[in-house]
Amino acid sequence: MTTPTIEGVQLLTAADGEAYDDARRVFNAMFDRRPRAIARVKTPHDVAAAIGYARGRALPIAVRAGGHSVAGYSSVEDGLVIDVRPIDHIAVHIDNRTVRVGAGVTWGALDAATQAHGLATTGGRMTTTGVAGFTLGSGSGWLERMHGLACDNLLSAHVVTADGQQLIASETQNPDLFWGLRGGGGNFGVVTEFTFRLHAVGPTIYGGFTMHPRVEAPKVVRLFRDFMDDAPREVCGGAILMTAPPAPFVPADLRGRPAVSLFAAYFGPVDEGERALAPLRTFSPPAVDNLGARPYVEFQAMTDPGNPPGRRNYWRSGFLSDLPDDAIDTFLACGVGATSPYSVQVLARAGGAISDTPEDATPISGRSAPWLFHCYGSWEQPDDDRHIAWVRTTEQAMRPWSMPGMALNFFSAVDPELIRSTFGAGKYARLTALKAKYDPENLFHLNQNIPPAPTQ
Ligand SMILES: Cc1cc2nc3c(=O)[nH]c(=O)nc-3n(C[C@H](O)[C@H](O)[C@H](O)COP(=O)(O)OP(=O)(O)OC[C@H]3O[C@@H](n4cnc5c(N)ncnc54)[C@H](O)[C@@H]3O)c2cc1C
Repeated sequence: MTTPTIEGVQLLTAADGEAYDDARRVFNAMFDRRPRAIARVKTPHDVAAAIGYARGRALPIAVRAGGHSVAGYSSVEDGLVIDVRPIDHIAVHIDNRTVRVGAGVTWGALDAATQAHGLATTGGRMTTTGVAGFTLGSGSGWLERMHGLACDNLLSAHVVTADGQQLIASETQNPDLFWGLRGGGGNFGVVTEFTFRLHAVGPTIYGGFTMHPRVEAPKVVRLFRDFMDDAPREVCGGAILMTAPPAPFVPADLRGRPAVSLFAAYFGPVDEGERALAPLRTFSPPAVDNLGARPYVEFQAMTDPGNPPGRRNYWRSGFLSDLPDDAIDTFLACGVGATSPYSVQVLARAGGAISDTPEDATPISGRSAPWLFHCYGSWEQPDDDRHIAWVRTTEQAMRPWSMPGMALNFFSAVDPELIRSTFGAGKYARLTALKAKYDPENLFHLNQNIPPAPTQ
């Protein structure tokens, strides 16, 4: 049997066996869905053909890039997956410091291409995350305090809309659509190409992590909070409550035991970075000290080993208006009840360039938050309830310090009220009007969905 095609687009179905299984697999193993077909698109024309194919058969559509949606949005049971991974071009323009990148590219590939010229833009903290979903959900990365979120560095996007039109969205062309793409998720069409602003970064930077036994966390996290609150925007960082991995760099008596790791980097001259991050070594002698000069691309890949695909995941996160001692103690107390050695809790310093952009300039909220918390439940066996309960309990415990809304990219199971509160009434109304203009039938609904405003 030959693989069916639509207007030259390869369609994978269950009959393709392993190729189909490979193509339908997403990061979060909780979503083992079997699409009717997977369209491997290479061009905007292919995307339009795939949309027409699904419309003609009333098939629900999922759009898939890096497949890292923790909420499982990039897969669909018995529907059509539009898989943009074959759109994988990268063109770095050194003269005007921009990069044009196909929607199927991952951050590892994009960082490697831009770093060949000593350039970078704010990208994911894991190399396998897709540029597309990450950016459309705002895109939080280590460079954000210096250069803003990924959506703040977006200069234009090529989009195929629900009616098959091919549009360019930028400040000057379809500016309403451009506004919606900068944090409004995959609601308004299928993006085939992004253009980003680039900045001089590295290629060698100073950064890495330290690790302490968890008993030291109350002291170490407080000192880290004070350090980050005073740090210049060249410094990024987060405190990670974790189970120390059974890795050779971890002392034997800490392996498999609760630990706290302080991640940090300095995006400037290496010698300045060494001085700027020196206090991290003096909070208390760390059990692991991996801080040092290293390639930016190596720093970007540092959390890869701890997050392999194929585990079950449930995540919540929140913007914090403040990080007083009792918030730290509450967060640490939640860690005692963690249900899996793969689960982690993070306190990440935000601020800097994130809050330079006015709240209304993009759909997302939380720009004024100095800190974010993340609670990432991750486990292997399908005994989901107890792990999900722990994540939700942690989220609830942090409510007294949480601001309204959510960081779109870090959420499992989103309900409509949460989406409304995330954008706030004014921006939500603007987004529903935009949805009514570009996707009135809500064809693209497998995302943090914004319903179309009712027609007058
Ligand atoms: C291990 C891990 C690490 C992460 N680290 C970070 C981080 O550091 N910072 C951060 O901000 N987020 C992070 N995330 C969250 C991640 O950015 C979001 O889940 C993001 O949506 C993933 O994008 P993707 O392209 O990989 O995912 P996909 O699952 O392919 O897509 C995610 C969403 O975007 C839509 N979409 C994908 N491509 C397109 C397109 N071309 N056009 C229109 N819509 C599209 C999909 O339909 C879906 O709704 C991480 C996630 C994981 C699993």
